[in-house]
Amino acid sequence: MKAVIFEQFGQTPRVQSVADPAPAATGVVIKVEATGLCRSDWHGWMGHDADIVLPHVPGHELAGTVQAVGKHVTQWKIGRRVTVPFVGGCGHCFECNSGNHQVCENQFQPGFTAWGSFAEYVAVDFADTNLVALPETLDFATAASLGCRFVTSFRAIVDQAKVKPGEWVAVHGCGGVGLSAIMIATAMGANVVAIDLTEEKLAFARELGAVATINGCETQDVIGAVREITKGGAHVSIDALGHPSTCFNSIANLRRRGRHVQVGLMLGDHAHPPIPMDKVIAHELEIYGSHGMQAFRYKALMDMLETGKLQPQKLIGKEIALDDAPAALMAMDRFEGLGINVITRF
Ligand SMILES: [Zn+2]
Ligand SMILES: [Zn+2]
Repeated sequence: MKAVIFEQFGQTPRVQSVADPAPAATGVVIKVEATGLCRSDWHGWMGHDADIVLPHVPGHELAGTVQAVGKHVTQWKIGRRVTVPFVGGCGHCFECNSGNHQVCENQFQPGFTAWGSFAEYVAVDFADTNLVALPETLDFATAASLGCRFVTSFRAIVDQAKVKPGEWVAVHGCGGVGLSAIMIATAMGANVVAIDLTEEKLAFARELGAVATINGCETQDVIGAVREITKGGAHVSIDALGHPSTCFNSIANLRRRGRHVQVGLMLGDHAHPPIPMDKVIAHELEIYGSHGMQAFRYKALMDMLETGKLQPQKLIGKEIALDDAPAALMAMDRFEGLGINVITRF
């Protein structure tokens, strides 16, 4: 099969022919019909992820059709249209048994713990626990765009922060994660304040439902601006970028007993950012992470897609070919353009 592969971290990946994958006994092989590009793939390529063993094929936001089925798989047949969350639970550890597959102790992550979906085929383990059937109305590119940013934002807003109608939600950073969070929080009935450094992204944030926007380049005091708009601070705040300054602002702009959710990744030099712990104690703030979403929670998300309450297809930027993936991957740190690039030609 054709795959995007790199032999050294930071070295230009190449499209080359490699052996077709075979399914594990509890896994399947999926013919990839669409796969999204993500900043996590860039981090992996740069060597920021300890799980990656070289040589490596990236890609973790995928949708496709089941091509081969392992001998212990009972729920899935060849030809089914499916997607998977980017963290696949093993289905039998303590966390999986408690319903928290997103923090499984033996998690399977295509494109990190194994070869990923920048290829014609990808092997996915623990299929019975993690595969999600696609409704006929959902196209592959949109389905692929859900697997990472959108489900992580869904879990952040709905399951972690438990956003309620009428609450103020501040979203720091209007990339794929932030725009997803704005759309989901708006659908939940919250009032969203979006913060970014570019007017183009803020305009898109308003289109997706943000009721107020703050340009961090023009506003010296982002924390004060959020407090003013929300009349005392946000109930919920999301760092959707993953940077020490957005993380600090997101916690510091909360009202008393507010909830911060860290969704943007903090890797390398940013792994241990300063946070205003004095405020966390004095104001009883709550701090959460969000790390993917369990496959069984896709039901709620899919229902909101089918009824049109959520429209993730609005977040898709360009559809590209597998041959274009190496250049697009290497450019992922530049924050250019609106929307997610999805590979749909192999
Ligand atoms: Zn597990
Ligand atoms: Zn991703």
